[in-house]
Amino acid sequence: MSQSPKTLIAGNWKMNGLTKDLAQFEAVVTALNEKPAPDCQVLLCPPVTILAGASQICQNSALQTGAQNTHVAESGAHTGDIGATMLRDAGADFIIVGHSERRADHQETDGVVNAKARSCLNAGLIPIICVGETHAERTSGLALTVVEHQLNGSVPDFDEGQEIVIAYEPVWAIGTGLVPDTNDITNMHAAIREWLVTRFGERGKGVRILYGGSLKPSNAAEILPIPNVNGGLIGGASLKSEDFLGIVYTV
Ligand code: PEP
Repeated sequence: MSQSPKTLIAGNWKMNGLTKDLAQFEAVVTALNEKPAPDCQVLLCPPVTILAGASQICQNSALQTGAQNTHVAESGAHTGDIGATMLRDAGADFIIVGHSERRADHQETDGVVNAKARSCLNAGLIPIICVGETHAERTSGLALTVVEHQLNGSVPDFDEGQEIVIAYEPVWAIGTGLVPDTNDITNMHAAIREWLVTRFGERGKGVRILYGGSLKPSNAAEILPIPNVNGGLIGGASLKSEDFLGIVYTV
């Protein structure tokens, strides 16, 4: 893997989006056809109900699709659940795992996140593994300790030819309009890079570290050039093609 990985701009639609909203995928595909973003890999993760439809629209385009969760098992007696191989079959290239909303709403532990990330790798998919501190942890000076603990528990080993992505998403910045100051993002991403290199050696230099939390067209130009910020994970501003493209075209 290259030592300066390509910027990844990834959208997380969360529990939003109906069939009619596939028009947003069509708009992003058309825009990237007309005005390519060659320095940027572009990904949208819709709800699973429209993943296959979205993936069809994205075929042979510069827009890729991903899922927002997976079961740890490949298949079996798990009513209502969906495994990574099934998500791959629906067109996904990436899966977000360990988002703070899943950690909070479904009590997902680091161990569960680690198992989900491994099931993504086994299915040939790239896990985007989310970590990040709460506001109370940040104000108590525990942000780095908490994130390092999450990394230790949530990040699996991966083989040559496989890829993982880390997303640093301070919980208090998600959906709030609040963003850490540049120094705090710089320090956290440097610490995550150091952790990756300690754990994986040279390969740790090529793992992409995304920033997520109220990233918008208006602040992307300030956040994305920070050292060790290799892209963004974007919630609210990924729902409308103009906003999402506004971030893509700052790269
Ligand atoms: C997210 O949910 O991953 C996220 C970063 O959301 P937002 O951009 O809306 O803060």
